[in-house]
Amino acid sequence: MKCGKQRFLCREIDSYRGAAATACPQPDDLLCHQACVGGVLRQDTPFLIFLLIGPASSDLPVGGRVSFSKLRGKHLGMSDELKIIVELQHSIDELKAAEDLLAGIPDWMRELHEQHTRQKAEMEGLQAAREEAELAKRAADSEIADLQAKVKHFQEQIGMVRNQREYGALLQEIDTAKEQISSAEERELAAMEQGDEAKRLLEERSSAFQELNERYQQELQKWEGQKPDVARRADELRQQVAELEAKVPKATLALFERTRLRHGGSALALVMEVDRKGPRIWHCGACNYRVRPQTVVSIQAKSIVTCDSCRRILHIEEDAG
Ligand SMILES: [Zn+2]
Repeated sequence: MKCGKQRFLCREIDSYRGAAATACPQPDDLLCHQACVGGVLRQDTPFLIFLLIGPASSDLPVGGRVSFSKLRGKHLGMSDELKIIVELQHSIDELKAAEDLLAGIPDWMRELHEQHTRQKAEMEGLQAAREEAELAKRAADSEIADLQAKVKHFQEQIGMVRNQREYGALLQEIDTAKEQISSAEERELAAMEQGDEAKRLLEERSSAFQELNERYQQELQKWEGQKPDVARRADELRQQVAELEAKVPKATLALFERTRLRHGGSALALVMEVDRKGPRIWHCGACNYRVRPQTVVSIQAKSIVTCDSCRRILHIEEDAG
C-alpha cells in the first residue's frame, strides 16, 4: 500500500484488522487517508477505513494528516438508498397520521369531543330513565285498575254467598287483591319519583349541555373546514410514498415491508451512541442491543443493515454540517 509518510502507520493499522479504535497504535496521529482509501483496507476492514478516512471523508484534507480527535467529532452519513428508506418511513408515518385524523377527531378538539360524548351519554341515560319510569308507572296503573275491578267483582259476590266458608274465602280474595293494589301503588309511586328526578336532572343540565353542544358543533364545523387540506396532504403523501417506493430496489422494499409489518408500522431503528469517554459504543435505539462498530460503518458502506437482535433496519442521524 502506498501511503507516503504514513506508510508505517497504515501497515500497523492493517495488522489490527477489525480491531476497535482504541487498539490503533497511534489513535491521535492518523493519517494519510487517500492512500488507504485506494488500498486494501477499504475492501475488508470497514471499521478501520472508518477510522482512516473518517465518516465524512470529503471535507478531510486529501493525503493530509488528520488527528483522530477530529474524526471522533464527526457524524456518519447514510447511503442514498437508506436515505430514501428513511424518507419513505417518514412519509408513511405522516400518511398514517393524516388518515387516522381523517377517520377520527383532531387533537385540538379531543377534550371537547370527550366532554361532549360523556355529557351526551348522560343526557341520553336520563332520558331513557325517564321513559322507563313512565312505562313502569303505566304498567302499575293498569295493574291497579285490573285489581280494583277484581275487588269490585268480589264485593258484588258477597251478597250471593251461601255459607260462612264461602264468605271467608271471598274475604280472603278481597284482602289479597287489596294487598296487591297497595304493592302496585308503591311501585307506581317509586316510578313517579324516579321519573320526576330524571326530569329534574334533565332540565337542570339541559342548558349547560345545549351550550356545550353548540360549541361542539362549531368546532366540528371548523374541523370539517380543515378536512379537505388534510385529505389533500394525504393524497400528496400517497403519491410521495409511491414515488419513493419506486426508487427502492425490490429486495430492499420487500425487507422494509416485512420489517414494518412485524414491528407494527415502523421498520427503522436509529443507531444511538452511548455518551461516554473512551471508544465509541453504539446501540439500537429500538431494542437497545449493542451495534458493532463494523455495523455502523456498514450502514454507510453497504446501505441496508439490520439490527442483530430486533432485525429492524438501522439508520443514523444525519449530520447537517
Ligand atoms: Zn434492535
